[in-house]
Amino acid sequence: MLRGNRVMRIVWLPGTDLLQGECHCGATHVDEDPAAMWDWLLAHPVGHGGTESVTEERVLATVR
Ligand SMILES: [Zn+2]
Repeated sequence: MLRGNRVMRIVWLPGTDLLQGECHCGATHVDEDPAAMWDWLLAHPVGHGGTESVTEERVLATVR
């Protein structure tokens, strides 16, 4: 699993059809649609208060 302060992560919630995304700032969001999840993650940094470019690593982790 990648580590770092710029990592965004999406994990599948076992026993459900839901995905949980987590931003590097700690914000989380649950959605069943992966595309909607990425839309949220990529739009989310707007709330970080900076004009940082979107260079976060994309991580799709699955629970084994
Ligand atoms: Zn964030």
